[in-house]
Amino acid sequence: MRMSQLFAPTLREVPAEAETISHQYLLRAGMIRKIAAGIYNYLPLAQRVLQKIERIVREEMDKQGGQELQMPALHPADLWLESGRWDVYGKELFRLQDRHERDYCLGPTHEEVITDLVRREVSSYRQLPLLLYQIQTKFRDEIRPRFGLIRGREFTMKDLYSFDKDEEGLAVSYQKMYHAYSEVFRRCGLKFRVVEADTGAIGGSDSHEFVVIAETGESEIAYCDECNYAANVERAEAVLEVEGSSPTAQGELELASTPGMTTISEVADFLAVDPRGLIKTLVYLAIDKEDYQPVVVLLRGDREVNEIKLQNYLGCLHLALADADTVQKITGAPVGFAGPVGLKDVRIIADEEVPHIVNGVCGANRADYHWVNVNPGRDFAITEVADIRKVVAGDKCKVCGHALKTTRGIEVGHIFKLGTKYSEAMGATFLDEKGNKKPFVMGCYGIGIPRTMAAAIEQNHDDKGIIWPMPIAPYQVVVVPVNSKIEEQMKVAEELYAALQGAGIEVVLDDRDERAGVKFNDADLIGFPLRITIGSRSLKEGKVEIKKRRTGEILLVEREQVVATLQELIRAEIEIGAQD
Ligand code: ATP
Ligand code: MG
Repeated sequence: MRMSQLFAPTLREVPAEAETISHQYLLRAGMIRKIAAGIYNYLPLAQRVLQKIERIVREEMDKQGGQELQMPALHPADLWLESGRWDVYGKELFRLQDRHERDYCLGPTHEEVITDLVRREVSSYRQLPLLLYQIQTKFRDEIRPRFGLIRGREFTMKDLYSFDKDEEGLAVSYQKMYHAYSEVFRRCGLKFRVVEADTGAIGGSDSHEFVVIAETGESEIAYCDECNYAANVERAEAVLEVEGSSPTAQGELELASTPGMTTISEVADFLAVDPRGLIKTLVYLAIDKEDYQPVVVLLRGDREVNEIKLQNYLGCLHLALADADTVQKITGAPVGFAGPVGLKDVRIIADEEVPHIVNGVCGANRADYHWVNVNPGRDFAITEVADIRKVVAGDKCKVCGHALKTTRGIEVGHIFKLGTKYSEAMGATFLDEKGNKKPFVMGCYGIGIPRTMAAAIEQNHDDKGIIWPMPIAPYQVVVVPVNSKIEEQMKVAEELYAALQGAGIEVVLDDRDERAGVKFNDADLIGFPLRITIGSRSLKEGKVEIKKRRTGEILLVEREQVVATLQELIRAEIEIGAQD
């Protein structure tokens, strides 16, 4: 490809709308353009990257016995009513009607459609296991489409669904996908972690997320270097540590005046106590379809509520912090002075650490006052204890006891054991060896293709632009003649360009009549892994310069050796996978 022909309108300025690095560079490198919130055009450079990722995905799915098919994006509502999701999926589902006023939706995922297909066509255990996948457009009316391709409203997903005759079969299919996903992201040249994920209200089943490590990621993960435990903080658990071996005598309950002190740090400073000795008291609303119930939540002062754990514990559809009026009604005091002492007729859920607090401090349910020397059990009853705190770095690993670390990342893949949730709801059965009717045991497995491309940029860039991992780079090499007015330079550049193309190397020739600086900047911005610079000085010695985008390392290579050297560099980089 010639740069003069390449449809990649690069931008010098950082577009104001772009909040994250990947969004900025995708726009600046002329790879994507927005047409509406969360909806993008993919320009040729992006399309090449997406196709490379898709190719790796296809190869790994096929290796595990996956069969590719294609399902429609337009789904009749009937199927979603059958599964029960028409009503619970909420506003994220794009809904529409046809000319006969029949309801449809644009598929955000395809469990319903695939379950319907399989229930009609598969009737015997002999036809199982079945691994079916597609790479197809998904629609989700995300509440906040943002970060460019990371959270779009229309995006491509590879989704695979497994159908097995029993749980053991599902375990095998799940393991295959776990392996395939690890291979996909390794082969894309990305650093990632596999983390235990929250399974939500379905519970019980296995679920893992594949997270590309990047500071800018939306997901926070806790992990242990010692034993490889890793989990999304939404779900991460840690050992309960109880302090102090010598029992402290319980002091007498006292009322302390704390005028205007409403936050943990204000109260801790004012009373000169450690925040760990405070009992944080929050009022939540557990919301279900029709009604809601207030609940009081207690935590050690230095802790945050893990709302996902709390919601799973309560088993409600939604969870929200109560408004000031509700807090006043339940506790009799304004926000900031709530405490469990004397509360009646309300569920009080304490995190595991709370019963171990001795001589603590909590709000007195009276404006401008706190209780001091509060002892759970003596001064108030704890009826419900649960793990509802957010794990932080330094907490002890549940598996091996070492200190956990935390990092951020972007979820690019998600695998999930569904069991018989959909097959039972939709009556999808087969006949087993004994002729008994059984529901299929299912799994679902998704990879966001554009999100993977964006995550690759979040992980691989510098202040000049993108640094593509070789396996997914839009082109592997750019050839830059320093001065296109000098005939010899252009001649050598053209020859090399032809030779590289002949050798099957993906190459762009920057044939534009631009200053060298402009060409170098664009090369860095677009992120070609290798740049060949053709300048007069090296040419005199019969050499050209190869520069590695990632390290800045420069190799001076004999002209005759260029093709072989590049082939070797490219092969090596494709094989090693992720690099620092
Ligand atoms: P998230 O928690 O980020 O919303 P999800 O749990 O809804 O993700 P899944 O339904 O498991 O995601 O979808 C599988 C994959 O599809 C995700 O791992 C991600 O790579 C991709 N994906 C999901 N939602 C989006 C989106 N709005 N834009 C781009 N990619 C997405
Ligand atoms: Mg989502």
